[in-house]
Amino acid sequence: MNPIIKNYNKILTDIRTSEKLFLRKHNSVKLVAVSKTFSDKDIKPLLELDHVCFGENRVQEAYKKWMPLKINFKNIKLHLIGPLQSNKVNQALEVFDCIQTIDRQKIATKINESIKSNELLDFKKFEFMIQVNTGSEPQKSGIKVCDVLDFYKWCKKETNLNISGLMCIPPFNESPEEHFELLNDLANQCNLNQRSMGMSKDFNLAVKCGATHVRVGSGIFGSRST
Ligand SMILES: *Cc1c(COP(=O)(O)O)cnc(C)c1O
Repeated sequence: MNPIIKNYNKILTDIRTSEKLFLRKHNSVKLVAVSKTFSDKDIKPLLELDHVCFGENRVQEAYKKWMPLKINFKNIKLHLIGPLQSNKVNQALEVFDCIQTIDRQKIATKINESIKSNELLDFKKFEFMIQVNTGSEPQKSGIKVCDVLDFYKWCKKETNLNISGLMCIPPFNESPEEHFELLNDLANQCNLNQRSMGMSKDFNLAVKCGATHVRVGSGIFGSRST
């Protein structure tokens, strides 16, 4: 069997097993297959299995790779999981269905204006998440923990963006569990349903802590050369 399909099936089975083990609802966790650096050849086997949810961290790479694929596979839901610059917003809105990395007022405003001013775009077609810097890392983007509720309220008041949840990337050297729990608590405080957390090494733990989206790259596609 194709190794990518084999890995994918194993990860899906693990997620469903963790849902059971941690008393989560069956199928309540979505697998975001992170295809960054991988080509359409690696992705196609998953598309043929009807997997629809993918993640990319770079706008231009995603645009080039996914615009052609989206013509033939109409149900694809593509998630942006990397930082978004203002000058890439229009391109991002063409190819992405969910932007998980809303991390400042300026970008939320820019996205709002772009959707509003483009007749072809519709607020209802997009989903957004707020990225939270749970580890207070200076080099990492994301809203500070103490500002999350206010930032969410601001987004609701000042934009038409459909903010569905929160996302975090825990510090590399720390045990992720406390970060997952923090994100879960913050989402509860905001009354938001979606929590994007957990990657190849820790997605089972994330399921335990309430993840609704786990972002798995190398666990499916293999190690990345870049
Ligand atoms: C690359 C990436 C992932 C996937 O990481 P793996 O360890 O390969 O599963 C998840 N989330 C973000 C934000 C990423 O950039």
